[in-house]
Amino acid sequence: MMSNPVKQNTLTIAQQSVVSVKGLSVRYDKVQALKGIDVEVGQGEVVSLIGANGAGKTTLVMAVSGLAPIVEGQILFEGHDLGTFKPHQIAGLGIAHVPQGKRIVPDLTVKGNLELGAYRFQRRDRNKVLRLMEQEFERFPILGERRNQIASSLSGGEQQMLAISRAIMMEPKFIMMDEPSIGLAPLVVEQIMKAIWHLHKTGITILLVEQAATLALALSHRGYVLRNGEIFMQGTARELQNTPEIIKGYIGG
Ligand code: ATP
Repeated sequence: MMSNPVKQNTLTIAQQSVVSVKGLSVRYDKVQALKGIDVEVGQGEVVSLIGANGAGKTTLVMAVSGLAPIVEGQILFEGHDLGTFKPHQIAGLGIAHVPQGKRIVPDLTVKGNLELGAYRFQRRDRNKVLRLMEQEFERFPILGERRNQIASSLSGGEQQMLAISRAIMMEPKFIMMDEPSIGLAPLVVEQIMKAIWHLHKTGITILLVEQAATLALALSHRGYVLRNGEIFMQGTARELQNTPEIIKGYIGG
C-alpha cells in the first residue's frame, strides 16, 4: 500500500469547470458503452474515474480526445464544444491523453519520444523543447539516464514514465491518464502517483482513470464511479473512500 501523498484537509475544490460532459452517450455497433453520463472537472482539480473492466472509463477519455463515436450529448472544454473538433485540434486546445498501455514510439530514443510530444514548439522554439526535456529528466531522473536509449528497451515502469512525460511536453492545460498504474510494481506506482500529484501542484487539471479505486482516490479531490456505462456514484474522494462498496473492494482495489 502506497503512502498517501495527499493531505485531504488541505484540498480545495475549484469552482470553475474546465471540462463539462453533459448527457454523453457513446455506442460501438451493438455495445452502448456510455449511457447519458454527466461529468465535471474543475480548474486545477484531480478527478478520478473509477470502475471495473468494461465500465466505460476508456471510452470517456477517448470521447474527450475525439476518438469515440458520440451518439448523444456534449463535451465542453473551456466552452468549446469538442464534438465539432478533430483529434489534433483537441490536442491543440491543450488536452493531453496518456492512453492505456504505455503507448510510446518503440523505435525512437527517450529523447526522440519527448521531442515528439513537443511537436508544436519544435520548429520555432528549440530552446523551449530542451528546457521542457530537462524538466522531465528532473521529474523522472531515470529517463535522463536513459535519454539516448531506444524506448522499447525500457522497463514497463520507465515506459509509463516516458508516456506521461511525452504528454507533459506539450504543456497541456488538462491531462487524462488511462490506468497509469496498471501492471507496475508498487514502488514504481508510488513514483508515478507522486509525479501526478506534483503535476497537479503546477496547476494542470487532471483526470485519472483507474480500476484501482483506493489508489486513485488517495490522489484525487473528487471521483466518479462508472458501472455499465452509467455513473453509479460520485462525490469527494473522502466520501467515496468511506462508501461500503469501495471499503469492501467491490470497486477496484
Ligand atoms: P477497462 O478497465 O477494461 O479498460 P473500461 O472501463 O475502460 O474498461 P471501455 O474500454 O470504455 O471500458 O469499454 C466499455 C464497453 O465498450 C465494453 O463493453 C467494451 O467491450 C466496449 N468497447 C470499447 N471499445 C470498443 C470498440 N472499439 N468496439 C466495440 N466495443 C468496444
